[in-house]
Amino acid sequence: MRTEKDLPWLAEPLRQLRDGQRGHALILQGGIGAGLLELALRLAQAWLCEQPPGPCDQCAGCHLALAHTHPDLKVLMPEAWQQRLEWSGEEEGAAAEDGSKSKKKPSREIKVEAVRQAIDWSHTSNARGQAKVLVLFPADAMNAVAANALLKTLEEPAPGTKVLLAVEDPEHLLPTLRSRCQRSRLAPPDEASALAWLGQQGLAQPQALLRAAGGQPLGALELASQGLSGDAWAGLPRQLAQGDWAMLASWPLPQALHTLQCLCHDLMARSCGGVPRYFPTEALPAVADWAALSEWSRELQRVRRHEDHPWQAGLVLESLLGQLQPLLRKRASRAGAA
Ligand SMILES: [Zn+2]
Repeated sequence: MRTEKDLPWLAEPLRQLRDGQRGHALILQGGIGAGLLELALRLAQAWLCEQPPGPCDQCAGCHLALAHTHPDLKVLMPEAWQQRLEWSGEEEGAAAEDGSKSKKKPSREIKVEAVRQAIDWSHTSNARGQAKVLVLFPADAMNAVAANALLKTLEEPAPGTKVLLAVEDPEHLLPTLRSRCQRSRLAPPDEASALAWLGQQGLAQPQALLRAAGGQPLGALELASQGLSGDAWAGLPRQLAQGDWAMLASWPLPQALHTLQCLCHDLMARSCGGVPRYFPTEALPAVADWAALSEWSRELQRVRRHEDHPWQAGLVLESLLGQLQPLLRKRASRAGAA
């Protein structure tokens, strides 16, 4: 896991949170591609560091936290994220209740059993005398039952326990949870710093990929590691206009849907004279039909809410692109006639 030594824009927020956070429950809001999890874990480590102000990376507490084996640190994350991050440790909670290696799709939820176990754990005495820290990432992966279980703990916290909810959008959390937590927001680095950092990582065409990731440098790096080039990203709107959606179809459905939402956002921005956020302006066809775009946007949201449904990804994409293409073609033929 990267630290603020690798991601320099995290250093100042980490220092401020470590020195300024007094409550027992904190919502840390920020982009996952901006280092949200990294910051949450380093803050947890700072609270557990035995040579404060930490994290010192030298003491026993820090070593245990870095190895994911600190007895006073519990990280709850869905199986899907554990797999993605190759996360190891004893934090799986209820991930594999029967101990078998299930072939089921990994869960994208933080399960209520895991939350209940964590609450029981928070009431046991702490092992190393600093604090007990429970991290939930992403916190909106709790369903309502799990969130309600956690709520009781936030109302009557075990002494010395800190709860850290890391989430991209706090609006996805129960209002009752939000009202019991302090809040802090992690901003992504400014564009120049992000580009410089991506350059140091050896990324070609960092600008286009940083845009593709909505300004979040780790997101850009991840897209590159998936084999996406800046040119391929910039060429995507035109490809789709020509009915070629091979690239989208090769991605996992949630990523393909997210990409279509980015495209929709930018087409809508263009159609009302705004500035696109994800694609270069010159890469976008100028679709003017705002009403049709709004309708498409609602349809994308609807499908996105049910992206875990065992749909045929190809059919979903075909249907969504079927709605987009007449808009793009109309424009292309008008431009051709002019
Ligand atoms: Zn330490």
